[in-house]
Amino acid sequence: MAKRILITGAAGFLGSHLCDRFIKEGFEVIGMDNLITGDLRNIEHLMKNKNFEFHHHDITKFVHVAGDLDYILHFASPASPIDYLKIPIQTLKVGSVGTMHCLGLAKEKNARILIASTSEVYGDPLVHPQNEEYYGNVNAIGPRGVYDEAKRFQESITMAYHRFHGLETRIARIFNTYGPRMRLNDGRVIPAFIGQALRGEDLTVFGDGSQTRSFCYVDDQVEGIYRLLLSDYSEPVNIGNPNEISILDFADEIIKLTGTDQRIVYKELPQDDPLQRKPDITRAREILGWEPKVSRAEGMKITYDYFKSLSQEELQKREH
Ligand code: NAD
Ligand code: UDP
Repeated sequence: MAKRILITGAAGFLGSHLCDRFIKEGFEVIGMDNLITGDLRNIEHLMKNKNFEFHHHDITKFVHVAGDLDYILHFASPASPIDYLKIPIQTLKVGSVGTMHCLGLAKEKNARILIASTSEVYGDPLVHPQNEEYYGNVNAIGPRGVYDEAKRFQESITMAYHRFHGLETRIARIFNTYGPRMRLNDGRVIPAFIGQALRGEDLTVFGDGSQTRSFCYVDDQVEGIYRLLLSDYSEPVNIGNPNEISILDFADEIIKLTGTDQRIVYKELPQDDPLQRKPDITRAREILGWEPKVSRAEGMKITYDYFKSLSQEELQKREH
């Protein structure tokens, strides 16, 4: 019989790609989302699939699913700094109360649960690259604290359910991931630069652009999450691409990729913006036999071509 999986945050960027993958693997998928940052267009192609059902629901309210469940992927949460600064309390609630509901449901159904954690648990890291042993450097009361601490609480309560109730849990520490279906105006650097390129606007580099990030293409991320869910490993695992680049160099790459001649303009660096970020993926390599396969050049070309192929009307709808 087909395995049944609940995916929260299903209408979002990562959630929708995960729905596609699990449908492809023959699972019955229940997607749940309250559409606060997501978009039904991301999953409209699945709506008529007999193995997919969508529940419009806010998981900070009690979560109920009829029938058996084998797995839960808990991906609901605002994920971009602009989003979680706009809805800070919902961000804290979905990471805390929402996670408790998902864990409770997993316990009731005896299902294995994987939670989407983040490289933000390392804050502005003093260890570089970041490995899973590092405890992090987070400003709990700064503006980003609402996201970082919600995710740290999420990890903590997940481990408590694992230790106290023997629940089968998995923790993916996801590093910056990009690809088709991101919201062009979600403020993250890749959709921001692509949107600016398409509109012929200047590229906005925050600070002097010397801060670094390491960008992972979505198909690689989905593969890592898939393997982690099916593994027997309950400690956190970094999933990301270790190829690090400064934001200024990345802006130059965008100008070359898009063949446009935009200028770079400098804006103020947001408070607590991490200065460096690069995953140490030794654990993922050893335990999951996983490493990213898609280079930044390939992944960015696919992503840019995707946005370029959308009609003007479609682009505007995706800037809701
Ligand atoms: P996204 O905003 O595209 O998707 C999040 C989805 O969760 C949206 O569809 C939103 O409507 C839904 N949601 C939010 N609050 C909800 C609630 N209370 N009830 C039901 N649904 C709710 O973001 P994303 O990039 O796809 O991120 C997905 C997950 O992965 C998040 O948990 C995020 O923290 C994590 N993550 C993403 C990245 C990345 O680079 N994309 C990096 C680290 C961690
Ligand atoms: N950034 C930028 N210009 C933008 C948007 C973001 O220079 O228009 C910078 C941002 O300050 C950060 C990096 O790009 O240093 C990555 O930002 P993003 O919001 O994508 O992810 P996060 O900070 O959560 O890693």
